[in-house]
Amino acid sequence: MPDVSATAERSPAEGATAAPAVEIRGASKRYGEVTALEELDLKIEQGEFFSLLGPSGSGKTTALRLIAGFETPTTGRVFLLGQDVTGLPPYDRDVNTVFQDYALFPHMTVAANVEYGLMVKKVSARDRRDRVADALRMVRLEAYGKRKPAELSGGQRQRVALARALVNRPGVLLLDEPLGALDLKLRQQMQIELKAIQRDLGLTFIYVTHDQEEALTMSHRLAVLNDGRIEQVGPPADVYERPASRFVAGFVGTSNLVEGAAAEKIAGSEEPFTIRPEKMRFLLEADLPAPDDCVVSGRIEEVIYLGSSTRFLVSVDGAGDQTLIVNEQNRGLRSPEALDVLGRRVRIAWDRRNNRPV
Ligand code: ADP
Ligand code: MG
Repeated sequence: MPDVSATAERSPAEGATAAPAVEIRGASKRYGEVTALEELDLKIEQGEFFSLLGPSGSGKTTALRLIAGFETPTTGRVFLLGQDVTGLPPYDRDVNTVFQDYALFPHMTVAANVEYGLMVKKVSARDRRDRVADALRMVRLEAYGKRKPAELSGGQRQRVALARALVNRPGVLLLDEPLGALDLKLRQQMQIELKAIQRDLGLTFIYVTHDQEEALTMSHRLAVLNDGRIEQVGPPADVYERPASRFVAGFVGTSNLVEGAAAEKIAGSEEPFTIRPEKMRFLLEADLPAPDDCVVSGRIEEVIYLGSSTRFLVSVDGAGDQTLIVNEQNRGLRSPEALDVLGRRVRIAWDRRNNRPV
């Protein structure tokens, strides 16, 4: 199985000296009263798998549309390979977009759908045939050229949409929530395929998603957007382990936010901090915490069995209404018994170096 862990891979951004594939400088986009993007600055290197992650309405699609040329920024500039393309129409940009709804022509065959863009560009019939065959092979649909979109599964339709973009051999591929309509298993399979295609062709992918797990597993780097602004840019492990803001800590994975009197009691200072649930462990009666540990005692208020792990909600003694989420891997055979611990008194410990000030 292909390795999709982006962290294990060297980012092409490291040591790159070539012009960035895409650069956005101080781009804002306003629609009347609505500010969709505010002063966006972004540099994406050639060959990079870069994700834009954020909740609905955070400006992800608007950012893609500025890069593709479907919109012009209210202020700011867009560059492709160092060239200012701010005023250029979409067809003069070496960029292709894969949309979430596929936007296939229903009356045309798969091959004709893929070929369409090449016809518009007046590519010769022979070249068209070769390139369509290439593109269909890349997405493993070589046997499906004669079918109509209605005769395909959701995942296959998504692959046609991808082939239709790849056939143009764009330098940059923009993907707007391309797997949003697929069920979980198919989505995970397509994640692996997309990642493999990106790596094999060395293309620059800019991938929009609201799914933090998708962004973490697929990207070399990601930008977290909130309300039209970038909250953080970095490799997945950096964003996850060192969230730059409260928003990032809460949106990328699950985090406990500890503040005020609870922070004082737990960590000795009122400075608010976040702590990930998987960094914590329960102490047994005889266990001694390490010197650098934060230790709290409390009561288990809720137990959520998640299969591979169990999530506990613990109310902390003498810390107002502060609760902590604690995650534990279900290693032992006694996992089903975890549900019996409701109401039990516990001690929790974690290395205080995992506390992230926010
Ligand atoms: P996302 O893709 O992250 O869900 P969008 O980029 O689509 O977010 O939208 C960002 C904000 O801009 C939203 O508040 C949205 O309602 C607004 N917006 C986007 N396009 C338009 C438009 N054509 N006219 C008015 N408002 C728009
Ligand atoms: Mg969108």
